[in-house]
Amino acid sequence: MNRKRSISGSWLVSAIWGLNAFALVGVLVGVGVLNTRKEPVLEQGFLELIPAGTPSRTLQPEIYYLPSVTPNPLTTPIVARTNTPFVLKQGPRPIIIGYSVSGRPLEVYTFGQGERQVMIASGMHGGYERNTIALADELIIYVNDHPEIIPSDAKLFILRNINPDGDARAHSIYGRVNDHGVDLNRNFPENWEKNWDRDGCWNYLPTTGGPVAGSEPETRAVVNFLQSQSVEALISYHSAALGVFPGGEPWEAKSIKLAKALAKVTNYPYPPIDTGCFYTGTLADYAVSLGTTAVDMELRNHRDTDFSQNLKALKVLLDWSN
Ligand SMILES: [Zn+2]
Repeated sequence: MNRKRSISGSWLVSAIWGLNAFALVGVLVGVGVLNTRKEPVLEQGFLELIPAGTPSRTLQPEIYYLPSVTPNPLTTPIVARTNTPFVLKQGPRPIIIGYSVSGRPLEVYTFGQGERQVMIASGMHGGYERNTIALADELIIYVNDHPEIIPSDAKLFILRNINPDGDARAHSIYGRVNDHGVDLNRNFPENWEKNWDRDGCWNYLPTTGGPVAGSEPETRAVVNFLQSQSVEALISYHSAALGVFPGGEPWEAKSIKLAKALAKVTNYPYPPIDTGCFYTGTLADYAVSLGTTAVDMELRNHRDTDFSQNLKALKVLLDWSN
């Protein structure tokens, strides 16, 4: 039994080696064939096979979403980073101080060369308060056409639109918050609260102050800008109708003085109309915490820019000195 098995075993070993040798020859032949097939292509040069000027790929429209920890149905697709039309056909270009949640630029126009800095900030509540952005654009055009309005010792910053995503989303109550659903004027790192008593406050749609103070890219852009400058006086524009609110909690003395001076030339209410709302995390309060004299100022309605009144307000701001 043992011997027989041994004989048939050695036959099996020979057969296996034979098959192996056959397979090895096959592999060598196959490699040879592949090599002879490849070589002509390499010799001709791969790139020479593509006619000059042929696009390598078809570019897709540049629609993208920035990553977000809180995916939100409010996200507004954008086509390009520099989607905002320049306000001035000729004249100074804005500096971009940051980008919104969906990647739109926050633009600041600068006029004048003086040391004393004053600032206008518009569009905090986006498309819901679209007329504040329109007012900023009118003022930018006016100041560019009338540079003599800027005192020689002053420099004016105009941030035309803090909330471009809200403006892009809708010119209605749906355009008020940013693309994370945050009320930006509740997100600044001063007197900040995630939530607040809605009695007397704007409450047409759900919104928050953000998960933490300064959580939003729009807020951080403005915070960084204010920290890098030394702005003496600031008007944060809103609408509508409630008047001029001094910054600070409680209201800060110099900001009360500025609010009164602005109310006098605009006829906007001062003291502002008290609806019983308690405002948390506002830009004006944050600016005051940095030593800036600041007010929230509301246009008469959601439609008009009240240009002539706000040109007078601009002159008060430009002459302001702490
Ligand atoms: Zn507002």
